Amino acid sequence: MYLKDHSIILTKKNIKEKSAIIYILTKNYGIKKTIAEGINRPESKLLTTLQPGSVGKIFLVGEENTFKLLSFLPYKIPIKVFKLYPYIYLWALRFLTFFNFLSISENFWGIIIKLDKYVLKFKRIFPEWYMLQVFKELGMEPNLFTCTNCYKDLIKAKDVFLYKSSLFCENCKKEGYEKIRKIDYLNIRNFVLKEIINFKSLSWREILRKIIKRHLKEIYL
Ligand SMILES: [Zn+2]
Repeated sequence: MYLKDHSIILTKKNIKEKSAIIYILTKNYGIKKTIAEGINRPESKLLTTLQPGSVGKIFLVGEENTFKLLSFLPYKIPIKVFKLYPYIYLWALRFLTFFNFLSISENFWGIIIKLDKYVLKFKRIFPEWYMLQVFKELGMEPNLFTCTNCYKDLIKAKDVFLYKSSLFCENCKKEGYEKIRKIDYLNIRNFVLKEIINFKSLSWREILRKIIKRHLKEIYL
């Protein structure tokens, strides 16, 4: 099978000195694990261009889970974010390899190929924002807007309660549910719906982080 597609390099792991295993997100075929033979030879044209975050046209040949890299024509190679936020940028790319993407929506593709822009835009809130985008793409978003039990819009609830990764209104709360301050809940809501970030108080971020972490565990296990 011969495969040609727009792609972004997610991870690169060197093997046998001169070669590497790369994970590539392709626009139309999901994630492909690929062997890039000889890529680390000094004379290889791809040595500097094929790195995590590089966007370009990929040419592969293979079957199912074993593909070989034929060629890669880069459109864009990340530089700035790599220097400023190397850890978070590489994390964001690697994070995708945990999921089974079959096809990528236009919207999500737009996010992934401009990931560097979003890392710079959201800075410390980037992981939360990003994970929510990934959940959305997978159709597994946490419900942050209505009571898990009675579906009441939580903006109308007097108090909001958290149990595991789910939110409840004051009528449906049970013993042991954690009360969320309404202001924190509203900050979470503004962030998720309108990308408005309240940097003054970050307690809302801690709560959102907790919800997302638990949600990830629930969908991943
Ligand atoms: Zn309720």
